[in-house]
Amino acid sequence: MSRRTTGRAGHRIAVVGAGMAAARFAERYTALGGPGRVTLYGAEPRAPYSRVLLADVLTGRYGADDIALPTGGAALRTGAEVTALGPGALTLDDGTRAPYDTLVIATGANPVLPPVRGLRGPDGELVGGVHSFRTVADSTRLAADAAHATRAVVVGGGVLGVSAARALAALGLPVEIVHQAPHLIERHLDEEAGAVLRTRLAALGVETYPGNRARALHGTHRVSAVELASGYVLAADLVVLACGVRPRTGLARAAGLPVRAGVVVDGTLAVTGQPPRGEPAVYAIGDCAEHRGTVHGLAAPAWEQADVLAARLSGADPDAVYTGTRPLSRLTAGPLEYAAFGDPTAEGPGVDVLRLADATRATYKKLLLRGDRLVGGVLVGDLATVGALTRAYLRDDPLPGSLAPLHLLTTQGAAR
Ligand SMILES: Cc1cc2nc3c(=O)[nH]c(=O)nc-3n(C[C@H](O)[C@H](O)[C@H](O)COP(=O)(O)OP(=O)(O)OC[C@H]3O[C@@H](n4cnc5c(N)ncnc54)[C@H](O)[C@@H]3O)c2cc1C
Repeated sequence: MSRRTTGRAGHRIAVVGAGMAAARFAERYTALGGPGRVTLYGAEPRAPYSRVLLADVLTGRYGADDIALPTGGAALRTGAEVTALGPGALTLDDGTRAPYDTLVIATGANPVLPPVRGLRGPDGELVGGVHSFRTVADSTRLAADAAHATRAVVVGGGVLGVSAARALAALGLPVEIVHQAPHLIERHLDEEAGAVLRTRLAALGVETYPGNRARALHGTHRVSAVELASGYVLAADLVVLACGVRPRTGLARAAGLPVRAGVVVDGTLAVTGQPPRGEPAVYAIGDCAEHRGTVHGLAAPAWEQADVLAARLSGADPDAVYTGTRPLSRLTAGPLEYAAFGDPTAEGPGVDVLRLADATRATYKKLLLRGDRLVGGVLVGDLATVGALTRAYLRDDPLPGSLAPLHLLTTQGAAR
């Protein structure tokens, strides 16, 4: 991709997918004065929105329109599923072709459906009362169903499962989480943090069954129970599947682009392997992109990738490079609030561990330090120090000199 081509007025940038990464790219590209014409093609029937706030839509705290994201005035085609890519033009599901000069793939991810017997009814659809949770449409259907349900089970105790369980409990339903791993949110939390979160969920009326796998659903037209691998049966007329996501790579694969877990990109966010001479450059960002072997599946890396690509393509910083995002996971869900930096279990030679647990207040804090740098950690229940820690962690700065490490764990030492 030469700077000359992207810098031309009228240059057509097609973005496949109108989700969080696409919206951020369009907004930044425009804000940076990019001269091209950006068009977002989205399969969903609505403008881009923040999925991070979907649990709040489920509880009714926000309406679907309240969580819309800015797109910098980019052209937007909603309800437009792209069925084939390039070279040089997209094909849409109504058969029309849309030419482009540069292509950005931002197709996100699909929920993974677990291998559970009885998931689908005779018509091949999910049986009544069973939901995945990825879109506003999912959220609307789930809220309508929850209004008539009496007991809910959430299959999967990752971030999504915990958020969904909290939202359903807020709607007044008794909720149980079935989680295959030994503790909640095992991708980001250590065992103690998972246990504190479980206590906090119990206080909201949510029971958790870690180390348990859902084996089958009972009920032909509507779910009536979830059967665990242990043989235990949980009565439920509402089930939410929160078993992770898989990058949407079908289009890229069909177009012959390099795909492993995600669409493989380099530091410029270009899909690796240069396009043949004369063909438009292709980029990928967000949940569908794999950079240095990592598919993040989180909003912050999606935004960081979008920012780098917007800086490059707008001409504001043609040499911007994405070098990866330090793993940082946050749930801002009232009493379930937590922050996890890197891998909180990565203890080892040269790493100092500070740990502070308060069983009465159900709080837990742990920091892993290599010298004066934060290399991992987790805060559950008391996030007074999260601002200072996040800044130091993301920049790989020394921890603030004015604050001794122990103070960083305690509320008094909080730098806001
Ligand atoms: C309920 C929920 C809560 C979450 N909470 C958090 C959180 O607290 N923190 C966090 O960091 N992350 C969270 N995430 C993850 C975060 O939302 C994603 O990382 C983020 O949305 C990724 O953005 P994206 O643009 O890559 O994908 P998406 O936002 O999924 O957007 C992809 C879009 O592309 C569209 N699309 C796909 N294929 C096509 C096609 N062929 N043609 C047209 N359009 C297509 C899809 O319909 C979709 O609208 C949460 C996700 C969910 C579902």
